[in-house]
Amino acid sequence: TLQRPQSGVLYEQALAHIVGGVNSPSRSYKAVGGGAPVFMKRAEGAYFWDVDDNRYIDYLAAYGPIITGHAHPHITKAIVTAAQNGTLYGTPTELEITLARMLKEAIPSLDKVRFVNSGTEAVMTTIRVARAYTERTKIIKFAGCYHGHSDLVLVAAGSGPSTLGIPDSAGIPTSIAQEVITVPFNDLEALKLALDRWGDDTAAVMVEPIVGNFGMVMPHEGFLEGLCKLTREAGALVVYDEVISAFRFHYGAAQTYGIFPDRAAIEPDLTALGKIIGGGLPIGAYGGRKEIMEQVAPLGPAYQAGTMAGNPASISAGIACLELLQEPGIYDRMDKLAARLADGLLSAAKEHSIPLTVNQIRGSFSAHFCDHKVTNYDEAQDTDGERFAKFFRLMLDQGINLAPSKYEAWFMTTAHTTDDIDATIEAVRKAMAHL
Ligand code: PMP
Repeated sequence: TLQRPQSGVLYEQALAHIVGGVNSPSRSYKAVGGGAPVFMKRAEGAYFWDVDDNRYIDYLAAYGPIITGHAHPHITKAIVTAAQNGTLYGTPTELEITLARMLKEAIPSLDKVRFVNSGTEAVMTTIRVARAYTERTKIIKFAGCYHGHSDLVLVAAGSGPSTLGIPDSAGIPTSIAQEVITVPFNDLEALKLALDRWGDDTAAVMVEPIVGNFGMVMPHEGFLEGLCKLTREAGALVVYDEVISAFRFHYGAAQTYGIFPDRAAIEPDLTALGKIIGGGLPIGAYGGRKEIMEQVAPLGPAYQAGTMAGNPASISAGIACLELLQEPGIYDRMDKLAARLADGLLSAAKEHSIPLTVNQIRGSFSAHFCDHKVTNYDEAQDTDGERFAKFFRLMLDQGINLAPSKYEAWFMTTAHTTDDIDATIEAVRKAMAHL
């Protein structure tokens, strides 16, 4: 069992100065019983070292962006070069055109893009643009999909598809929550009811086309096709939040993933991007159909700006990351690693008669302690959080770093090796024996 006295010391100090001791609530261990989170000091490839010099194999990947492993030399070099040339200009650069081209080539629904600094900003702006274009105000979203922390998307479900939302956070006016309708993922009937009731006022239907925020969850066959059809019939825009999913499963987005037979039938009007496209530096981007994007200033009446937007360091890291992801076979390798680890998890669980549902999508999977399928948020909530908390700590004490939440995925990176996976399976077997 790893000892972590120095993390405890730093946590006490952090609590005195930083609210909750963390700069994002998902980093606290609140959902897994509390206490000091591990303070890391260095990361390289698939590994972390904490302030007590313990080593961890990392499956958090910083909640998704670190797909080529930590401190990849090609990305580091790009960042160093950018820093040497000046970190922020407040003028356009050629680099921005390069990354915009790369995104457009991989995701053809992006006629025009705009870079911002986070996924939150990207999503927030797609909503403004959709409202400007449609001259309507309401949005429909899906329960359990996370779209960043802007007001409109931090709204929970009302009691059904015909009711308006309730704020999910203090500080969000009820009047804003009233602009949001939340329906269950994978439920076209509920979406249809919501659109029947609110369709004329709906600017956009916002969805993670492949969900990454209550586990990894695939849309049912026909769900995205139906969603696009119903939304367009109502005169609203389809907005995909691909902040997690873009470049996660293949070189492209969920909307261009080959498993969907009819790409045209599932193409969105607007897409929000982030995470991987910044290679580990802060970034977001949004884009879509030309006539919609032309709503944005300086061309149109919808205002959006950013001092740090398109900064050369983030853009350079993003370009370098996407260059690495073009290596043939790289996604297949992550897929194989994930399959091997998922298999190890399932057989260890079976050996100890522990119910476990694994949803694997290429190089990532979620593992829920339950004996039912996980296809929507209700099913993800109805899983054993206490058992997960125990499992999380047993893994951490053996040097395996997971997200401290039963909903989060395990992410493979191009830096993980079969040996890492097998060492992790050993740890899983020991952990399961103690559950
Ligand atoms: N959309 C999705 C699907 C996300 O998973 C996240 C972050 N986890 C966001 C938006 C917000 O991105 P950011 O944290 O960069 O603001």
